[in-house]
This record gives sequence, C-alpha cells and structure tokens, in this order.
Amino acid sequence: MREGNRRFVSEVRSQHMFASEARRNEVAAGQEPFAIILGCSDSRVPAEIVFDQGLGDLFVIRVAGNIVAPSQIGSVEFAAARYGTRLVVVLGHSQCGAILATIEQLRQPTEKQSRNLHSIVDRVRPSVEALLATDLRHDPDALVRDAVRANVRVSASHLRHGSEVLEELIEQDGLLVVGAEYSLETGVVDFFDGFVEMDEPRLATEAGD
Ligand SMILES: [Zn+2]
Repeated sequence: MREGNRRFVSEVRSQHMFASEARRNEVAAGQEPFAIILGCSDSRVPAEIVFDQGLGDLFVIRVAGNIVAPSQIGSVEFAAARYGTRLVVVLGHSQCGAILATIEQLRQPTEKQSRNLHSIVDRVRPSVEALLATDLRHDPDALVRDAVRANVRVSASHLRHGSEVLEELIEQDGLLVVGAEYSLETGVVDFFDGFVEMDEPRLATEAGD
C-alpha cells in the first residue's frame, strides 16, 4: 500500500494497466482484494487512486468522516470472511469536513442539522469533545489535525473490538486493522496507528503493494 501511495505521489501511475480489459475479465470470475479500506466520502480521497490500485484490489467502504456504524462493521466482516482479506485500513484525511462540522456543532450548537447528518456528527463527537477540553481549543489548526487522528483511532479501535467475528479473525487468523491519514496537501498517506514495526516487511510482500 505504501509503495502504491509512493507511485501516486510521484505521479508514476499504473492505473491504466490495473483497469485494463484483461484485468476486468480476470476479476469478473472472482475477487481477492488484498486490503479493505474504510475511508471518507470526500471527493479528494478516492482510495484506488491514492494507493494506485485497480479493479479487484481494494474492498472500499466510504462514509463521511470514516465513521464506524453497524453497516460498516458488517461490510468489513463480509469482506474479511468471504474473501480472506487480512488487512483493514481506516483512512482519514486532513481538513475532513465531518470533523470540521463536528467542531462547529460543538462550539455553536444549531438545531438546523438533519437527524441523519446528526448521526454522523454523533459518532465523531467523542473524539473531538475530549480534545476541546484541552489547550488545543485555542489552536484551531492543531485541533483539527489531532481530531482527525483521534477519530481514525476510535474507528480502528471500534473495528478491533466491536465485532466478535473480527476479534476472532484478529486473534486466530492474523487480521490487522491499522489507521492512516491522507494529506490533501502532499498526497502522502501516513500509517500512524496499529502497525507493528517488525511486521512491515512481511506486510509489504503479502499486500503485493
Ligand atoms: Zn472527510
């Protein structure tokens, strides 16, 4: 995944090959995605493009604020159990609108928000609330930065501990759930949560970048 992101950042993309007719025919018969991505719906962070992957490579779930609700857990369970995928990446990003909206809502609560939108803000709220109680509240940029990462950590932890199916796969079958942040400014993905250093070379090979 890191290798793919490096290709994206340096604009050496292989996307056309990954989406070729031959590849389409190959995956029409069945898929074996090597990673499950739970990312934000933001139009600037399409998982396949920022990791330079093609058809059949990634099983992607996108929802504003990369939050974890039952249907997201179900999607991860489905892919991990059915396709044997053993890497889950929760992918947040800088300047996430869902984080900004949550901060706004906590600072100036408004009744105007729809109930459905509220259900997203509610999932992000605990991460932001904890930070608003610290000195970070005086530093808007740092607050957003830390809130993005805190929200990724919460989602990753929720996936690790919020499902018996996933817990079992983690303990017995090597399923790995990690957290990462994509920088809108540089295009670089920083894997900051859940990676065990000694595991990296193995992952790099297994993940087929
Ligand atoms: Zn976002």
